[in-house]
Amino acid sequence: MMTADVILPLAIADTYTYRIPDGLACPEPGMRVLVPLGRKTITGLIYRVPSQNTDDSVGRNIQLRDIIEVLDERPIVLPSQLSLWRWMADYYLCTIGEVMAAALPARLLDNDYTARTEVYISLAPQFTDIEQLQPVFDSLKRAPKQKKLLEYFLELSDAFDGQPHSIEQRQLIEFSGESTAVVRTLIEKQILRASHEVVSRIPSYDADIEPAHPLTEQQQRAAQKIQAGFADGKVCLLHGVTSSGKTEVYIHLIRQMLEQGKQVLYLVPEIALTTQLTDRLKRVFGKQLGVYHSRFSDMERVEIYKDLLESTEPKVILSARSGVFLPFNNLGLVIIDEEHDSSFKQQDPAPRYHARSVALMMALAAHANVLLGTATPSVETYYNAQTGKYQLVEMKERYAGLSLPDITLVDLKQQYHRKEMYEHFADPLVEKIREQLAQGKQIIIFQNRRGYAPYISCRKCGYVPKCCNCDVSMTYHKRNNSLICHYCGHMIAVPAACPSCGGEWRDYGMGTEKIEYEVNMLFPEARVARMDLDTTRNKNSHQHLINAFARHDIDILIGTQMVTKGLHFNDVSLVAVLTADSMMQSPDFRSYERAFQMLEQVAGRAGRVGNRGEVVVQTFQPDNPIYTYLRKHNYAGFFAEQLKERRTFRYPPFYRLIVLNIKHRDYSRLDTAARELNERLQKAFGNRCSGVIVPPVSRVQNMHIRILRLRIEANASFAQAKKIVMQSIAYIHSLPSCKGAIIQPDIDPM
Ligand code: ADP
Ligand code: ZN
Repeated sequence: MMTADVILPLAIADTYTYRIPDGLACPEPGMRVLVPLGRKTITGLIYRVPSQNTDDSVGRNIQLRDIIEVLDERPIVLPSQLSLWRWMADYYLCTIGEVMAAALPARLLDNDYTARTEVYISLAPQFTDIEQLQPVFDSLKRAPKQKKLLEYFLELSDAFDGQPHSIEQRQLIEFSGESTAVVRTLIEKQILRASHEVVSRIPSYDADIEPAHPLTEQQQRAAQKIQAGFADGKVCLLHGVTSSGKTEVYIHLIRQMLEQGKQVLYLVPEIALTTQLTDRLKRVFGKQLGVYHSRFSDMERVEIYKDLLESTEPKVILSARSGVFLPFNNLGLVIIDEEHDSSFKQQDPAPRYHARSVALMMALAAHANVLLGTATPSVETYYNAQTGKYQLVEMKERYAGLSLPDITLVDLKQQYHRKEMYEHFADPLVEKIREQLAQGKQIIIFQNRRGYAPYISCRKCGYVPKCCNCDVSMTYHKRNNSLICHYCGHMIAVPAACPSCGGEWRDYGMGTEKIEYEVNMLFPEARVARMDLDTTRNKNSHQHLINAFARHDIDILIGTQMVTKGLHFNDVSLVAVLTADSMMQSPDFRSYERAFQMLEQVAGRAGRVGNRGEVVVQTFQPDNPIYTYLRKHNYAGFFAEQLKERRTFRYPPFYRLIVLNIKHRDYSRLDTAARELNERLQKAFGNRCSGVIVPPVSRVQNMHIRILRLRIEANASFAQAKKIVMQSIAYIHSLPSCKGAIIQPDIDPM
């Protein structure tokens, strides 16, 4: 009996065993198949033939069901991808089916992808020479529309200029101004001919290719050092200050890879996938550039996928984290720009993977090079560079002799004390903004919180409206006078009065919407816009805002961290950070690192050629050492301090973390499950297990949440630790008192 292990997009078992019935051609790994599951029929992917499942739950003796149909003639997933999926499932503790669900565009899995076809028009084959058309033109004397259309056709198609060409019917109609009926008549008369051809949905780029900029001396040195690192088989970290020209160095390296006939994967944070960057790359790489984007339709993504699957042509693919799932045949280089960015980590659902780690595995298997680039490396990456595991390459100067921005602190304690504030703006900041506006400059104001106010409260009794699904206060959005939960999206109108005592509301704290309001009061003559999640929900709104700001149709741009990522504007002379304190107050061990990265990145938006930028940071803690490092742009000093803390408090890179999120609708079952799991893990791991932690937001969407955190020494066996974790989870699932508990492991949490 022939059997196969099939991957199904489910979280239950890893793979499922089916019989290959007689008469069915034996499928290969990576081909899609239709299989029965319960009473349904679903699409799966062949993992292995014959089956090697020995798991009892699959059971050798149980009657296996038959594969219904093999959907592909050739695999749509390469062996290298299957091995990567295997690694991901094992490393991140999920099923290979969950990896598959994340990896393949939905349409590819549903198998309802349809190629787009266009009608093409050509001349009927008996006409091989213009002379032969003379009688045709004579016959069309009384049919001026047909005659005109035929003339347009000859003009557009260059029919006798070498090969007979075909042209799109749509184009023919558009240019001639005639209707499809006229085309049809000419087809019936056997003068023209129609055919359906498959066309690409991927927008093509036909403009002229421009040469890349020549590299500066500093950039050349960096490129050479990177290449030397590659030659030694090392991963390289390009630590270059903002605007040092890291992108120019990437372009240079990509071009060399393409010339060697290789493929390149270029990963960036989702939000940085703007037309600013794609246009810059298209100008240099033209059609060799592919963009894989979540804002594209699924059909478009399928086309990029298929295009790569079937070719070994040199190509560079620009993508956010999901680019690691593409079927590269001939990968030579992976670039991870802004490698410190936390959006490379998928939080939910499984696989909770970090694209940087996956890309490193992928490159290792393909013998490809890896380049990490950033102005503010993650502590883990910089540690690898310092200990020699990675090759460290630095660029300390900005392009064209531009200096790094000056950072000025404003002490909010003093300002409030002296009453030198207008709402949330200290007087010196107001003064600076005014000066810059007068000089026709642009300003970015950064506030890492959207909405109007993080919460409202009753003036009389102190009542704070909370979300009915989550244990969190609701954010006040003034524009539509509503309260919105930023965890589950639940929205209600602001109650006219306090439901508890009838008192009036007062709002607390500040979000971008409130800042926008205050800016409009302070600078009524300025053109102001806001960029946050609420103003960029539509498909193109993010792009529109960036374009408008780049055209200088906006003087002041207020935004959340969206404004910090990789954008270049020529007239920005001042960046204001309204408060940085809240970023540092979060209990996360990465909060200082994040704050530093955020501040340095947002500061990097200030100042362009011939125009030194300035950054103003308002804070209640001007003595915080983070500012000493920030003002000197001293990353290495900041890193050294962080590393000490990481060692003392047992965090990465000295320890590896596993977080277990435990969830249940029922509070007492959750409590039992968390305590049981903790007990079991403490037996195995001792004080490496944190004990039950109540997270700051302990109920989301009606699920109560508890957390356990494990710290495993970097030199201990991580695989062994994970095995114990999985056994402990299985044990909890077997307890009737914990029925229904959800336990989600998060490996290397961010
Ligand atoms: P980074 O990625 O380090 O922030 P970029 O590569 O975006 O820096 O460069 C910053 C700006 O300087 C860009 O506008 C870029 O076009 C310009 N630039 C950098 N290097 C060069 C170069 N060698 N020739 C011309 N322009 C350059
Ligand atoms: Zn909620």
